[in-house]
Parts: sequence; structure tokens; C-alpha cells
Amino acid sequence: MSSSDFIAREDRFGARNYAPLPVVLARGEGAYLWDVEGRRYLDMMGAYSAVSHGHMHPRIVAAAKAQLARVGVVSRAYYSDRLGSFLEKLCALSGLDRCLPMNTGAEAVETAIKAARRWSHRVKGIPEGKAEIIVAEGNFHGRTTTIVGFSSEPSYREGFGPFAPGFVTVPFGDAAAMAAAVTAHTAAILVEPIQGEAGIRVPPAGYLGELRAICDRNNVLLILDEIQSGLGRTGRMFCFEHEGIRPDGLTVGKALGGGLLPVSAFLARADVMAVFEPGSHGSTFGGNPLAAAVAEAALDTLVDEALVERSAALGETLLARLAAVRHGAIRDVRGKGLWVGVELDPAQAPAREVCLAMMRRGVLSKETHETVVRFAPPLVVTEAEIDHAIDVFQAALSEVAPLHRASAA
Ligand SMILES: *Cc1c(COP(=O)(O)O)cnc(C)c1O
Repeated sequence: MSSSDFIAREDRFGARNYAPLPVVLARGEGAYLWDVEGRRYLDMMGAYSAVSHGHMHPRIVAAAKAQLARVGVVSRAYYSDRLGSFLEKLCALSGLDRCLPMNTGAEAVETAIKAARRWSHRVKGIPEGKAEIIVAEGNFHGRTTTIVGFSSEPSYREGFGPFAPGFVTVPFGDAAAMAAAVTAHTAAILVEPIQGEAGIRVPPAGYLGELRAICDRNNVLLILDEIQSGLGRTGRMFCFEHEGIRPDGLTVGKALGGGLLPVSAFLARADVMAVFEPGSHGSTFGGNPLAAAVAEAALDTLVDEALVERSAALGETLLARLAAVRHGAIRDVRGKGLWVGVELDPAQAPAREVCLAMMRRGVLSKETHETVVRFAPPLVVTEAEIDHAIDVFQAALSEVAPLHRASAA
């Protein structure tokens, strides 16, 4: 079968909730993917940062295979010989006390919302049902009805109501607006340290530190969603380390699954996590032995291969070289670590057209909101590969918007 056959079948039988680029991938290794015709692509997308270790990382694949020879799923009706060491490692890396494993990112965020509400009712003394969680405009925390209910993106919400109450939205990056929104009923502030799906929006320096201070002053929980920014993506193990603070609650996912499985977690201070007693929350697959073995190998690999340091060093190169590209359609270049968004003027160069032109030249990215081309490669990418991706990006820009020729400054 050719690419067009696979595409036709997927489009015929699948729901149309995605608009994929027309490439049919069949194999991956490291920073590369191959389509069914055998063409090779450099992966600058990293599956929305789920593939930070590179595709089919040998050590993570070996851990999965070893576990597949033993046991896969036992449920949390029992203990397993895999879960404890995974939880211990994630607690140690994040500096938080306890970890509740889930599967997808949205489930980890739902867990955080439940923890914050219960903590606020039981510990802070907010009357039951009155707790408010403050979120940022432009947020992306997943796709459940509760979560899209506090999104500001019409396409995520339209027609899916009624939505859960109890959320207050303020502009992202504006600590004064956040402080002004806190009331006696505020349970938590829930934000992404950098907004990924909004187009890699980086808040002003000091923002997280100011949020930390607001939370301390008002006995409010600071919950950071590091599902995409965490595990090395921004050049630190967690993005909050850039500002020397620690949240009270933290969600992790995506790269936690080592590019193989959905594995997520909610981590928190012991007194916050204490609101969950048996029966109050759970997940059939959460923390299963296969997921725990893979996630532990994913964490070990990040540390042992110094992938976080690599993200910091190569991220500077990526940002500097993209910032040096001169083209009339480029409006902004921003990011941290191996996570950079280039904002384009859609009238001159629609981001999707640029991504299609890059794809034809063997480099995969994906537009975010029609205007942003994303560079978020697996952290194992090399400097030469980054250079190649930027050359291809320039060629693609010149093809899509030929009135301006891209050049390096
Ligand atoms: C991707 C993402 C989620 C949702 O994760 P899923 O695994 O798709 O449910 C939540 N928060 C952030 C910041 C994300 O980037």
C-alpha cells in the first residue's frame, strides 16, 4: 500500500479531530522517522514532546522488553515490584514528597484539580463547593470536559458545555492580575510555566517566583503543569528550577512514557497528597508494572545521558540560530531549551504551508494555531541536525513567501 492508501483509510474510518500532515510514518530511530515509502525525516516535533529520548531509545525499549517477559498489568489492588522505585525517583527529581501515577496528561491534571479542591475544603477551610482555581488565558491542560471548560480557546470548547464551575481566568504572564484575582475562596493557581500549545509563550522572567510569593502570602497552592515543559525540555529537569522555586503540586506526562507508553503523574507535598484516602481516586492502568518500568528507565536515561544539559546547550544554539534568520514573515522567535516557536505573519507565510514545505524537504514540524512553527526535537538531536533543520526552514519560508528571501544575519 502507498501513503495515499493509508491516508484514505485513516480519513475514511477515523474521526476527523486532527488535521495531520500527509506523511505516513512506519518506523523511528533516534531523531529520525521513516515513511512507508522509505523516505527519512528529521523529527523536529518529538510527538509534542512525548519523544524527548528519541524514537525507540535502546535502553527504554530494553526495559520494556524485560518487563514484557514478566508481567504487564496487575492493577492497584496489589503492590508490584516495579512501582515504588519509579515513584521514589520521580519524587527525588522533582523535590516533592509523594507521587500519584496516572496515564495521560489530562488525568494528571484532573488529579491535581481534585487534590486542590479537597485540600482547600478540608485543610484551608473553604466551604464545600466554593473552591476556585485560577488559571491563565491561553492555557492547555488537556481535553476532558472539566479542563476544556476553563480553556480560552473556542475550538476546544465550542458545543461541549455545560462546563464545571470553579475556575477563574487571568492573562498569562501577568503576576499582578493573578494577585488581584485571589480571594478567600482561592484553592490553587494552576499554570504552565511556558504555554506550549498556545505557541510556546514564555512569561516574563520572575513570573513563577512572583506566583510562588502570591501563593505563600495567601495560603494558596501553586500547581505547575509541566507535562510538556518538564523532564528536560526547557534545559532544566523542571522549568520551575529556572526560577529556584518549588511548586506545591506538579503534573508530569508526555516524555515520562519514554516515547513508548502513556505515563503521567501528579506529585505534591505530603500534606496535600494526604487528602486522598483509599477509594477517593484511582486509575485501572495508572502505575502498572510495564508503565513503571518504562518510566523509570526514561528517568534514568535522562540523567545518565545528561539529556537535560544537552537540551540547555543545544537549546541556546537553536534559539540563537533561529533568531538570526532574517525574513519578512517572521514576527517572533521565543523559547527555552530545545523548545522554540517561530511566529509567522499568516498573511505572508501560513505556518501549515511552511510545515508542508519542510516536510517535502525531509524535516517534520507542525503548525500551532496557524501562525507558529514549532522546533521541539528529541533531546538526542545533534547540532548538525539542528543546523540542517534551520536551513530547511529557511528554504521552506522562501518557497512559501518568495517575496522575501530568507537569509542568515
Ligand atoms: C499535552 C499536555 C496535556 C495533556 O496531555 P494528554 O496526555 O494529551 O492528556 C496537559 N498539559 C500540558 C501542558 C500539555 O502540554
